[in-house]
Amino acid sequence: MSLHPSRRAILAGLAAGLAAPSIGRAQATARLVIVGGGFGGASAASFARRAHPELDVTLVEPQRSFVTCPYGNLVLAGRRGLDSITHSYDGLRARGVRVVHDRAAEVDPTARRIRLAGGEVLGFDRAILSPGIALRWGAIEGYDEAAAQRMPHGWVPGDGSQTRTLRRMLEEMPDGGVVGLAIPGNPFRCPPGPYERISMIAEYLRAHKPRSKILALDAKEGFSKQALFQDGWRALYGDMIEWVPASRDGKVTRVDPAAMEFETEFGTRHRVAVGNVIPPQRAADIAQPFANEGGWVPVDPVTFEARNAPGVHVVGDANAGTPMPKSGYVANSTAKQAVAAAAALLRGEAPPEPVYFNTCYSHVGPEYGISVVGVFRAGPDGIAEVSGSGGVSPRGDLPEQRRLEALYADAWYDSITGEMFG
Ligand SMILES: Cc1cc2nc3c(=O)[nH]c(=O)nc-3n(C[C@H](O)[C@H](O)[C@H](O)COP(=O)(O)OP(=O)(O)OC[C@H]3O[C@@H](n4cnc5c(N)ncnc54)[C@H](O)[C@@H]3O)c2cc1C
Repeated sequence: MSLHPSRRAILAGLAAGLAAPSIGRAQATARLVIVGGGFGGASAASFARRAHPELDVTLVEPQRSFVTCPYGNLVLAGRRGLDSITHSYDGLRARGVRVVHDRAAEVDPTARRIRLAGGEVLGFDRAILSPGIALRWGAIEGYDEAAAQRMPHGWVPGDGSQTRTLRRMLEEMPDGGVVGLAIPGNPFRCPPGPYERISMIAEYLRAHKPRSKILALDAKEGFSKQALFQDGWRALYGDMIEWVPASRDGKVTRVDPAAMEFETEFGTRHRVAVGNVIPPQRAADIAQPFANEGGWVPVDPVTFEARNAPGVHVVGDANAGTPMPKSGYVANSTAKQAVAAAAALLRGEAPPEPVYFNTCYSHVGPEYGISVVGVFRAGPDGIAEVSGSGGVSPRGDLPEQRRLEALYADAWYDSITGEMFG
């Protein structure tokens, strides 16, 4: 478990010249610095200002506005514009968050300082990192940043250009072409995401290029909500989608963007009109000093402090070793716990006992939504799903259930982004 400093330890820290939290005064004086203004970081900043006015909150994020991954697949379907999934930081500013548009270059957990690329140095009493993922360039031979211009990943939205490029390529491809997807093994950001993407591309193709095919090459043997997705694909898109698991030569090991070819583990080459490569991943660069060999950050299950850096909480996709999926919902849930734990520890109190939630909705077609739910608790052996707490949507011909879940998905998106940025 983490080091939960007693009042004595905090006083010892102060005596040693560490940053001096002084909580309980009318004015906020304990400094919480948050790195990354996405699902985990914006949630943490918003929650900190709402629930802990004693915290002085600074958010460091290079992008001027945030384009969400969730609902990016609906942009590919042509259902939504990029504008509708782009969010401004003005709401957080209005809540009293200092938003600094820069990139964190280094976190020093001992001196409790974060150096920004632009030169500013921010001292902190507690830091929360939620920088998301980095793509493992080169893990698939031939797939680097230049290749991503021809075969976009659309997995780290940045300024939205990857999603825009993928959408344009779908619009420009001929009817009868093949859309190829390369899907990674676990763990990766958003386990159901690639399969929602397949669904949304199929929705677009069925309406506009019905002779086209989708070839989904997967480095795994199975996937989240598999039976539900495959039921929906058969019902809505007939034989348009072919999903190939690793054991049937689904693992893409090399790409040739000039020839628009995927090559698999056993040497099969596939020519594609549009190539969407979702490569293997790890925690973003700024979190790497705290990461394990797999590239993810081990954390305390109650406070989400990095195991090797007390005082630095790592939430969102960057952390490791929990059974919870890498989702926006989990990033939001763990961010709130990290803020509550940080505030308690700054007061010299024990952190609250956490309950973590996840619901991942996926759109399969028009008025056709499905979901997976889980509730998790921290125990002596780490985080575990509460037995009987979750599950997936029921199978069967259930049009009203599917229609409602599509509506719930929209409501979820509006409420979580409203909470983060409103
Ligand atoms: C196609 C797709 C669909 C998805 N759909 C869903 C869904 O329906 N529901 C769901 O719950 N989840 C969904 N997800 C997953 C969800 O997007 C992620 O789990 C979530 O964004 C993780 O939050 P995060 O805070 O860890 O990272 P992010 O939300 O990516 O935020 C990270 C932020 O950190 C910033 N950053 C990085 N490095 C630095 C640095 N050095 N200094 C400062 N800032 C930095 C980045 O610019 C970025 O803004 C989807 C993902 C994809 C790809």
